Amino acid sequence: MAPSEKNKFGIYVHLPFCIQKCSYCDFATAPWNQGIENDKYISHLLKEIENWSQWVGPREVTSLYFGGGTPSLSKPESIVAIVQTLEKHGFPLVDDAEIGLEADPKTIDKDQVKMFRDHGVNRLSLGIQTFNDSYLEQLGRFHRKKDAIELLEWIDELDFVYTADILFALPNQDLGKLKEDLDIFKSFSPKHLSAYVLTLPEKHRLMKESPEENLITDMFELIREELSALGLQHYEISNYAIPGYEAQHNTLYWTNEEYWGLGMSAHSYLKRGPWGKRLWRPSGLNSYYKFVSRETSAVQDTEFFEDLDVFEALFDRIHTALRMLSGFNLNQLMDEFPRVLREPIMNRFAELEGEGLVEQSGESFKLTRRGLYIFNKVLEILTFTSEDRDLIDIRNG
Ligand code: SF4
Repeated sequence: MAPSEKNKFGIYVHLPFCIQKCSYCDFATAPWNQGIENDKYISHLLKEIENWSQWVGPREVTSLYFGGGTPSLSKPESIVAIVQTLEKHGFPLVDDAEIGLEADPKTIDKDQVKMFRDHGVNRLSLGIQTFNDSYLEQLGRFHRKKDAIELLEWIDELDFVYTADILFALPNQDLGKLKEDLDIFKSFSPKHLSAYVLTLPEKHRLMKESPEENLITDMFELIREELSALGLQHYEISNYAIPGYEAQHNTLYWTNEEYWGLGMSAHSYLKRGPWGKRLWRPSGLNSYYKFVSRETSAVQDTEFFEDLDVFEALFDRIHTALRMLSGFNLNQLMDEFPRVLREPIMNRFAELEGEGLVEQSGESFKLTRRGLYIFNKVLEILTFTSEDRDLIDIRNG
């Protein structure tokens, strides 16, 4: 199931169209409008591949992920056109590549599920969130419980690998209501689930009904217990899987592997320069189209590129590695960075341990339960402020 261990490289393709905008969503999306814009968008994606493939550097692709937006609104032929264009420009998929696609209930029927599978998709990521119709309505979701159940039944019949998203800490939600959602998921024996706390934009009308922090912690615990009873191991802050079914593409983000993001708002990370390079695309349709029509050389060194400095690179490496519940070897990681950073990092880990946020076993560190629930606090302690940076002279190695 897992793609070959060596040379992992992933491609993310952003397909931004949605039938309606969910009230809590801060992803870069665009209205579907019966798909009028879709062909134009896909042709820009193909052009982007053509323009940027040499710059990114041809290589084999171990995972390809179509996210959004609502990628299940797209035609399976578009997926094939993207895969073929990638291959033509030096990015062939390895035989066991994971090809994931986000699908929303009610935007896909059984025949389309089959078509996506026949066109190469081998993992669906279902935006179910909750089976409670009242919550679905409050959150502005397009689908309802019956659409989600139908989709799960079709996928089960087709024996298709999938993961599904659960949203919790919903307005006035209690443990009983969350358990109702988990019980329905459990009846389908999923192999992978992702559970996220609902994050509302500031001043959202539902904010005052958000559950208290203690209750959210109890919800985390309930999810862990219920899913572990199903054999799903908690392997990343928000992710649970039967061993062997972990998300290959997302794991790239937590293990310092390179990825190329295509399409509106997509981000990339390449190991270029001393500490790595980040790239991103504009997050509106028209600005993205303009971006694609520009020469590669005219875009370099603009606001769409960032060379990481040593502090950013170190922070990124540690905070992503900590997301994996298996933990990581801090000494080994610090060998890749200037020696002068070792002491400040060890001090931060001593503080994290003192606060009961991480625990050490040999040379490895991992999050404690408390660290899992208040990961923001962990990030706060790990961040290098501008004063910290001024005090550390990197030139002294
Ligand atoms: S379907 Fe997903 S991407 Fe689209 S608006 Fe809703 S949350 Fe955002």
